[in-house]
Amino acid sequence: MYPSSKELFERAKKVAPGGVHSPVRSFRSVGGDPVFFQSAKGAYLTDVSGNEYIDYCLSFGPLILGHRDPEVQEVVSKTAELAWSFGAAEPYSLELAEWIVSKIPWVEKIRFVNSGTEAVMSALRVARAATGRDKILKFDGCYHGHLDALLVKAGSGLAGESSSDSAGIGSELIKNTLVLPLDDENAVEELFSKEGKNIAALVIEPLPANYGLLIQRKEFLSKIVEIARKHGSLVLFDEVISGFRVGLTGMSGELGISPDLVTYGKIIGGGFPVGAYAGKAELLDLVAPQGPVYQAGTLSASPFGMRAGLATLKKCERENVYSILGSRTQKLVRGLLSILKERDSEANWDSLVHSSLFWFHKASSSPIRTVDAIPAGHKEAFAKVFHALLNEGVYLAPSGYEVGFMSFAHDDAIIAKTLEKADSALKKLKV
Ligand SMILES: *Cc1c(COP(=O)(O)O)cnc(C)c1O
Repeated sequence: MYPSSKELFERAKKVAPGGVHSPVRSFRSVGGDPVFFQSAKGAYLTDVSGNEYIDYCLSFGPLILGHRDPEVQEVVSKTAELAWSFGAAEPYSLELAEWIVSKIPWVEKIRFVNSGTEAVMSALRVARAATGRDKILKFDGCYHGHLDALLVKAGSGLAGESSSDSAGIGSELIKNTLVLPLDDENAVEELFSKEGKNIAALVIEPLPANYGLLIQRKEFLSKIVEIARKHGSLVLFDEVISGFRVGLTGMSGELGISPDLVTYGKIIGGGFPVGAYAGKAELLDLVAPQGPVYQAGTLSASPFGMRAGLATLKKCERENVYSILGSRTQKLVRGLLSILKERDSEANWDSLVHSSLFWFHKASSSPIRTVDAIPAGHKEAFAKVFHALLNEGVYLAPSGYEVGFMSFAHDDAIIAKTLEKADSALKKLKV
């Protein structure tokens, strides 16, 4: 048995900055002390005191089948008997790579790394090498991991803070980073007409989901891709969060846009630390040892991540997971929204949903597609609801700017239970 979360957090703060190893985990954005969890299964988390919670954070997205899916668990257990790491060639990464290449037309070659951050960092290196250009265009509110060059106007743990940039990044490191608002193709056109010949890549989350859920117009995405290509810039879709989440071929497939480079993470490792960058063979062949772009990793393509990832993706395809998750998410969100509207009418809640990602936000008269369009007071309104739900055993990501995720383990019974808990949680909120 562990000491309480409170006691653990006091100890953790002495040995780790803010007591955590990634900022949002600290509950800073919602107030209060974080819950310490000791185990998880299916849709449920268990904290160190034995309390259970229905989990809609799911490690921020990777666990599309829920915690310790039995099929994936079996593969992981077998892997523990085979090898933990080789630092050498092995068949497991080959099997995952071949499977992905066979399913995704714009992925001709792929390189596995250990995180989404590494994937984006490496893909930008390739883009610069391929074009001989230095500048990168990103969008306000899009998060691409914590690499220096893109930690400007970023989302995730920086969302809703007074400065959405990080300290400790010298101006030299971001002088080639250009930032524009989302949803404004004219601004992109204008920038490219001046700077086009210097821009190596346009990088975007095709479904921005790290600053709330800022669903973009298809015309905007098609147009900016067209503009970038006209100027000889590469298009990098950062699908770390949307890849294998909105469907097997991600947002690229849904939009019918083939990016030059694409990055994956989260789901691709089945809950283990894996990222990947991928795309056209001629671009990936620039990477060492084939080409001059250096990129390496001691633990890259870990057998655990490769085999858990493949087991996860195969099950998603075989069990028709995407369409089932889509309708279950609609059901959950419809239910939650009507409870929120009834029990917390003051905040005037609304929701945005895309496949199995969802986000509750304060209602707005115009569509929310940019950071600036998020209504004032959202963070505070969310914090209240977050704690009410937490008390009742429903765990959302502890920030109003993080989206919620559904997993295949969240069946109709779990959804019904969630709605019951939410209703009694928010009933208490009122009095
Ligand atoms: C999570 C995320 C990243 C960073 O991935 P890490 O594995 O946390 O480094 C990058 N881009 C997007 C779109 C993400 O959602």
